[in-house]
Amino acid sequence: MSDVFNGGCACGAVRYRMLSGPMFVHCCHCKDCQRQTGTAFVLNAMIESDRVELLSGEPRPFTMPTDSGRPHRVFRCAECGTAVWSEYGGLTQLRFVRVGSLDEPAALPPDVHIYTRSKLPWVTLPEQVPAFEAYYSSRDVWPAASLERRKAVMG
Ligand SMILES: [Zn+2]
Ligand SMILES: [Zn+2]
Repeated sequence: MSDVFNGGCACGAVRYRMLSGPMFVHCCHCKDCQRQTGTAFVLNAMIESDRVELLSGEPRPFTMPTDSGRPHRVFRCAECGTAVWSEYGGLTQLRFVRVGSLDEPAALPPDVHIYTRSKLPWVTLPEQVPAFEAYYSSRDVWPAASLERRKAVMG
């Protein structure tokens, strides 16, 4: 995956570019993601923050309540409120880009479905993509190259 992926908010004030493919793409069906997005699931492409170039605008962080108590900040366009990425656990070096904000969201399909225990009943998952009732062990599922990338970014 050496492609570049462009994205932005609904009003066009925020534009960004992913400088490479992500490490992994989560489709999360948890209740928090459902509520925060107002829909059935969220699509998060996990990538090193320094591989996301902000081309214009100023995504503003909003702090979300979490069950775990670990911080979760959603970055939204200050003008139109579109969520463009998230940051979990205060890890500023790792970014969860909202795949739906890409110009070509079909380019990054989910690599895994998580928290399927709260998946809406009318959502049918593809058989060839791993799915888990709750969270999972990335060691068992991620390609080695992605594990290496995450290790590098976590220091
Ligand atoms: Zn906007
Ligand atoms: Zn979730």
